[in-house]
Amino acid sequence: MYCLHCGDCCKRMSPISAPEPCPHLIERGTFVFCGIYDRRPEKCRKHEFPARVCPVGSSMLDLPTTDALHKRIDDGFEMITNDSNHRAEESQER
Ligand code: SF4
Ligand code: SF4
Repeated sequence: MYCLHCGDCCKRMSPISAPEPCPHLIERGTFVFCGIYDRRPEKCRKHEFPARVCPVGSSMLDLPTTDALHKRIDDGFEMITNDSNHRAEESQER
């Protein structure tokens, strides 16, 4: 399932802090990411809907077209990739 990074599940249903937002949220503009993605809890790993794209994110973000939906997925992926590369560069510099 493609996550659209709306943050709704992490803000409302975090297994760490519900009903409060998860303290590990990272917000970048309208995108929300997990700050401990590689070691996130099992419940977060298994958070799925029987759909190709998260229906909650689709509804929350009210994306008007399929192109806008695809762009959202691509932009989120690019932000994650850039962030991982940045962290890898930082750890190499240490
Ligand atoms: S640990 Fe990560 S995936 Fe789980 S609720 Fe917190 S921010 Fe979301
Ligand atoms: S798109 Fe769905 S899975 Fe992704 S953060 Fe929003 S509610 Fe959670």
